[in-house]
Amino acid sequence: MIQLTKLNKIYNPNQNNEVRAVQNIDLQIEAGEGLLIKGASGSGKTTLLALLACLSKPSSGTYYFENQAVSKWSEKFLTVFRQKNIGVVFQNFQLLKGFDVFTNISIPLLPLGLSNREISQKVQKAAQEAHIEHRLSFPIKNLSGGELQRTAIARALVNSPKVLLADEPTASLDSEMALKILNLFEELRKEGKTIIVTSHDPAVEQHPLVSRVLTMKDGKIL
Ligand code: ADP
Ligand code: MG
Repeated sequence: MIQLTKLNKIYNPNQNNEVRAVQNIDLQIEAGEGLLIKGASGSGKTTLLALLACLSKPSSGTYYFENQAVSKWSEKFLTVFRQKNIGVVFQNFQLLKGFDVFTNISIPLLPLGLSNREISQKVQKAAQEAHIEHRLSFPIKNLSGGELQRTAIARALVNSPKVLLADEPTASLDSEMALKILNLFEELRKEGKTIIVTSHDPAVEQHPLVSRVLTMKDGKIL
């Protein structure tokens, strides 16, 4: 499904604050994998995840998605590509605090010109998948940590993407809630999604969601 060849991401190239955050990564990811990317803080996990989400352009190398060299595409094509294929759960959720859960989940649908009924159906379905349907009318500011994570996951699912990427999805949760979120990802994987998560929490590795572990250090996969 995904192939990376000699992928590099250099921040501030040729300046004295240059950082080689991802270095010469060759990686193949099959559909249906539950991939864990682990490594110490600063090892390049978030940078690799942003590259996999096509939210960041590689400095060099090629990203193939289903044999298409998407890293060569313009932003206009990438927007449509992401809508169809990629759901992202950010580490700090990036939810709109002044709005309710329903509105937050609906955000990725707004550019698509759907009817209110279609939007409502898709939001309901994603909310059910993420087990947050009982909170749709709640303002974001009234949610617990686990509910924030579920809302962010529902928003990532609302366009029915093939791949779900989550950056440190258990980092802000207690161990019981972390387990529930990992169980949710496992359910989604069983339904056919490809799941890619980063974590520096050793407990994540033991979860049945995880079918493969990659360890990063200094921008490289060990
Ligand atoms: P991790 O998620 O494993 O903690 P990151 O991918 O966030 O690692 O960071 C990898 C390296 O890239 C770190 O040295 C970090 O300081 C640096 N870095 C991350 N984002 C930027 C940025 N926007 N500009 C410059 N350096 C960055
Ligand atoms: Mg990170």
